[in-house]
Amino acid sequence: MSSWAWLATAAALAWGWWQRRRVGRLNASLQECTGARGRAERTAAETAARLQHALTILRHLPMGVVQVDEEGIILWLNPAAEEWLAIDALKHVGQPLALFLPQPGDWSAIRNSSEGRVLQVRQANGEERSLCARWWPLGEGGIVWLEDLTERERVAAMRRDFVANVSHELRTPLTLLIGALETLTDPEFVLNAEKRHELLLRSEAEARRMLRLVSDLLQLAELEGGGKPERVWVPVIDLVDEAIEIAVSLAPEGLEVERSLQPEVARARLLGDADELASALRNLVSNAVRYTPPPGRVTVGARVHEGGWLALVVQDTGIGIAPEHLPRLTERFYRVDRARSRASGGTGLGLAIVRHIADRHEARLAIESRLGEGSSFALVFPPGRWRAS
Ligand code: ADP
Repeated sequence: MSSWAWLATAAALAWGWWQRRRVGRLNASLQECTGARGRAERTAAETAARLQHALTILRHLPMGVVQVDEEGIILWLNPAAEEWLAIDALKHVGQPLALFLPQPGDWSAIRNSSEGRVLQVRQANGEERSLCARWWPLGEGGIVWLEDLTERERVAAMRRDFVANVSHELRTPLTLLIGALETLTDPEFVLNAEKRHELLLRSEAEARRMLRLVSDLLQLAELEGGGKPERVWVPVIDLVDEAIEIAVSLAPEGLEVERSLQPEVARARLLGDADELASALRNLVSNAVRYTPPPGRVTVGARVHEGGWLALVVQDTGIGIAPEHLPRLTERFYRVDRARSRASGGTGLGLAIVRHIADRHEARLAIESRLGEGSSFALVFPPGRWRAS
């Protein structure tokens, strides 16, 4: 091969090598470009997903969130804020938030108070809601956070009422007890033996009333805060018989006590806590006796209801209860006739205890009553809570 031919071949080879290298480089940088674009796309998708996630959290927060600009114009708000302030995001974004606050001074108070402003707002269903609105500056505008205080205030009010009720319930017997003791210990009062005895009996009765009240309060506290009730198979007949024994021991002359057991439940067993179930029946029986003046009848029994529910029933032919009182009977300290309840030794907590025990056993307390004719209190247990033998 001539030197020219060698040169031409070498040049062709070099050209080929250089071209391949160039194409290789081009390919590499093309791949790099596509990779970078892919990475950028991936980052954008991730950012969008994260934003979407944050938005979902904001939407489902149990707090109201309203974003406003520097003029207080609504830019965005979450569903809680929409509902609580009756703002329709589709219609009202772009309007001043101040228009949707209950009082004229609310907007400036929210902006200027570090503690926030409590707003009382009426909901579409007519209920009042208590909101704490706090300002958080952000950029040119800011965020108004709304916290729902309704439940917290309701619980605080209940607690206050409860303490006031307990104090009131304790103060009456304490005052009577102190009065009796003062009379007994005053050297200027000369009492005959009969009068002394009467005062001592009254003192004892008041002290016992306080003890009953404290015991009922402790039992309620245990039921509310304690652990789960025991789950053992308790014979229904034992519960009924024990309740009958108590009724007989409490009943005055002229008050009959009866047992009424359907044959199907004579050997039935209930799944639950024997002490709690007995305590519920004890309260019902004690009420039946106390609110049934003789001549009358108290019946304790068990029967199967429709759908296979088992009912433990305490029925009486007593004074009965007017329908308007029925929904409130299981509230603590609720009494139809306060004086009558006190005179018969009631604490006003018996049915509250029964309801708690029912709840803890998946049972419901069914009350039927007719004024002047009598009442029926039934603890009704679902099919899974009892067995026939
Ligand atoms: P109390 O200690 O006052 O009896 P409870 O919580 O046991 O408290 O009952 C609440 C109220 O329900 C009673 O004060 C009474 O007015 C009414 N009540 C309960 N059981 C009967 C019943 N068998 N007959 C008539 N009224 C009843």
